[in-house]
Amino acid sequence: MLPAPKINIVIPLYNESLVFDELINRLQKLIDQSELSIEVILVDDGSSDETALKMRVISLSNPKIHSLFLSKNFGQQIAISAGLKHANATEAVLIIDGDLQDPPELLHDFYPYLKEGFDVVYAIRKKRKESFIKVFLYKFFYRFLSKVSESDIFIDSGDFSLISMRVVRILNEMPEKGKFIRGMRSWVGFQQKGVEYEREERLLGKSKYSTKKLLKLAFSGLFNFSDFPIKFIARFALFIIGVSLTYFFYVVFKKFFMGGVPDGFTALLFMIILFGGIQLLAIGLLGQYIIRVFFQVKNRPDYILKETIVSSVAVKIE
Ligand code: UDP
Ligand code: MG
Repeated sequence: MLPAPKINIVIPLYNESLVFDELINRLQKLIDQSELSIEVILVDDGSSDETALKMRVISLSNPKIHSLFLSKNFGQQIAISAGLKHANATEAVLIIDGDLQDPPELLHDFYPYLKEGFDVVYAIRKKRKESFIKVFLYKFFYRFLSKVSESDIFIDSGDFSLISMRVVRILNEMPEKGKFIRGMRSWVGFQQKGVEYEREERLLGKSKYSTKKLLKLAFSGLFNFSDFPIKFIARFALFIIGVSLTYFFYVVFKKFFMGGVPDGFTALLFMIILFGGIQLLAIGLLGQYIIRVFFQVKNRPDYILKETIVSSVAVKIE
């Protein structure tokens, strides 16, 4: 067994066989050239391509590149959580994406801040080389979320960050379902430092985030970190009650002093449908919180491991 490294790099991988070789090249260079002792934890998130095979080959021959294999696709956030659970570094964990959009070499820019006493050094995306619509929606979402959330979810930051081991241990202890790592990381507090960088384009392959997955992530961020939607319903209800009372008194006044109550069948129908819709929306929003309570109470494990290869030793989970 090697002594524990200073730094672990945790990388979730889902069907990344196209970029895999280049990823390993870059990591190997980093490991060789760095003065820090580094070990990598790759997490296969139920890939259906060659990713798992390639991971197995590299991990069996390279004791510094460990591999965890999940039993199916659990999603990036869970894959990262699995990696964090297996971290054994003495100082910190670097989380990066597997598609090289987050250059692992930035470790050397982040590390000095860790030494200065920051527990979390996170990357801020200065420029995104992605489609206009995607960039707009991301920007809007993060600004909205940071306005309404209970913790400062830092604007334009993802999971790319260097996190001290004490914070990693705290994250590992947090029992919440529907993990939203960037939110949890910011919630823990301590000294946190943002470092700007230009986010590269994905080196090869396509984004593994379908619109559905992206929405799920956005909902995790919103409903797990904010009670704004529920409060919004209550405030909106008060507003509507105010408006309807005003209207009621207006009609009564008109009937007694001016005569002739307005007939408004269409308006009536419109209002009924409108409020039917609003009520359903309100129930739906409430439902979002109930779903989360439901999953929390069920308390299923976050992920299931199929196999691990740690320090080149393969262990099948029985
Ligand atoms: N990923 C994962 N499980 C998933 C989806 C994505 O482990 O269900 C990994 C993916 O392999 C990559 C990282 O998460 O290493 C970021 O995904 P991607 O680059 O597709 O997201 P984007 O950069 O487009 O937001
Ligand atoms: Mg990407």
